Amino acid sequence: MPCKMYSSVRKFGTLSKHIPSAFDIAIVGGGTAGMNIAWKLGRYYKKLNIALIEPSLFHYYQPMWTLVGAGIKNFESSVSNFSDLTRNLRIVKLRDKTVEFIPEENCIRLATKGYLRYNYLVVCTGIELDFQRIKGIDEAFQKDNVCSNYSPDTVQKTWKCLQNMESGNAIFTFPNTPIKCAGAPQKIMYLAEDYWRKTGKRDNINILFNSSLPGIFSVPKYAKSLNEIIEKRGIKTNFRHNLIEIKASENVAVFENLDTGDKVPFEYGMIHVTPAQKPSEILKPIGDQAGFVDVDKYTLQHVKYPNIFSLGDCSNLPTSKTAAAVASQSGILFWNLVNVMAGRDPPMKYDGYSSCPLVTSYSKCILAEFDYDLKPKETFPVDQGKERRSMFIMKSTFMPLLYWFLHVTGRWSGPGKLRKLLRFGLSD
Ligand SMILES: Cc1cc2nc3c(=O)[nH]c(=O)nc-3n(C[C@H](O)[C@H](O)[C@H](O)COP(=O)(O)OP(=O)(O)OC[C@H]3O[C@@H](n4cnc5c(N)ncnc54)[C@H](O)[C@@H]3O)c2cc1C
Repeated sequence: MPCKMYSSVRKFGTLSKHIPSAFDIAIVGGGTAGMNIAWKLGRYYKKLNIALIEPSLFHYYQPMWTLVGAGIKNFESSVSNFSDLTRNLRIVKLRDKTVEFIPEENCIRLATKGYLRYNYLVVCTGIELDFQRIKGIDEAFQKDNVCSNYSPDTVQKTWKCLQNMESGNAIFTFPNTPIKCAGAPQKIMYLAEDYWRKTGKRDNINILFNSSLPGIFSVPKYAKSLNEIIEKRGIKTNFRHNLIEIKASENVAVFENLDTGDKVPFEYGMIHVTPAQKPSEILKPIGDQAGFVDVDKYTLQHVKYPNIFSLGDCSNLPTSKTAAAVASQSGILFWNLVNVMAGRDPPMKYDGYSSCPLVTSYSKCILAEFDYDLKPKETFPVDQGKERRSMFIMKSTFMPLLYWFLHVTGRWSGPGKLRKLLRFGLSD
C-alpha cells in the first residue's frame, strides 16, 4: 500500500531489552476498537513500529451479554484470550495500563513500564462503569435478585434472576449518563417479558422500565415501534427516573425524579441495573469538558493535537456508543490516520453511523441503524422498524461470527459496502 510515512521511529532508549520506548503509532486500549485498528495497521504497515497497550488478559464481545443474560448464549462465547486474538499480529503488545497522557510531549506513561513516546496516538479506552453512584449496590449484588448485563462479573446472574423471579415488580433501569449500547437496558426487559410469558409467570409480574431518559429511544422511527411493543405487552414506563439507591434488605430501589427532585421508592422482586458510566479520569489532558476524548466528529482527529485520533466509547463523537459504530469509525480513522501520516488532510468523513439490534423476544429483533441526524440508515432493503425473525438470527448467529472472524481481525469496517450492494438502485 503506497504511503509516505511521517518519519521512522526515533530511538529514545528502550522499555526493556527488546522493546523500544518510542513508536510510530501507539494504540491505547485493545477492546472492540483497539483490536480492529491494531490489526488494520499491523497488517498493512508492517514496517511501522506500532504498540498496542492493553492491561486485560481477556477480550469481551459485550453485545453477546444481552443474550447471555437471557440464557440464550453462554458467557464463554463472549470471551477470548487477548493473546489468542493477537498471536499473529506482528506489532508490540504491551500488557500494561496507561496511567497518564502527556500530549504536549507526545508521550504516555504506563503503570509498570514507564514512559512511551509516539508519533501518532490512537485512544480507545472505552467507558468505565460507575456502579458506586448507586448507594448500597455492593450489598445489593450479594442478593440473588439484583443483576446487571453490563459487567462480566454480574452478567451471568441475570439469567438466574429471570428464572428465580415469580411475582412482584421486575424493574429495568437506565442511568443519567451516556452509556454504551443505549438499547441494552430495554432489550433484556423484552427478553425477560417473553421468558415469563412462556413460563406462565407473566400475569404475576409487573414489568417497569425506569429510565432517566425522556423517551424510549432517540430515533423516532424505532421509538414508534418500541412504544407499540411496550403498549401491547403491558410494560409500564417511568421516564426521568434515575436509580440512586438500593435497600437490598427491604427489596426497595430508590429513584430520583429528575424533573421534581423527589425521591421515589419502588419495591422489587428483581432489578436489572444499568450503571452510570464515565470516561476514565486519565483522559483529562486530551478530553472535552465531559472528559471524553475531544475529536472532530467527522475526521476523528483530535481538535487540539493533530497526531491524536480516537474512536469508540471513550471519544466524544455524538452518536450512540456501540460496537457497530466502532466498526464504521475504524475504517474512517484508519484512512484518515495514514493520510495524515503522509502529510495530507484527512480525506474521510464519519456520518455518525451506529446500529442497535433491539432484541424484542427470543425470536424477534428490530435492527435500528441511524446516523448523526438520527435518520435511519438501514442496510437491508426491508422495513427494519418491524420486528423480524431474520434480524434475530442476524443478531444471535451472524453478528458474533462477523465479530470474531472479521471485526477483531481488522477486516470489517461496517456495513457501508454491503448496504450499497443490497440497496443498489434504491436511495438511502
Ligand atoms: C450489555 C451490553 C450490550 C451491548 N450490546 C451491543 C450491541 O448489541 N451492538 C453493539 O454494536 N454494541 C453493543 N454494546 C456496546 C459495545 O460493546 C461497545 O460500544 C464497544 O465494545 C466499545 O468498544 P471500545 O473499544 O470503545 O471499548 P471496549 O470494547 O470496552 O474496550 C476498551 C478497552 O480499553 C482497555 N483500557 C481501559 N483503560 C485502559 C488504560 N488506561 N490503558 C490501556 N487500556 C485500557 C480495556 O481493558 C478494554 O479492553 C453492548 C455493550 C454492553 C455492555
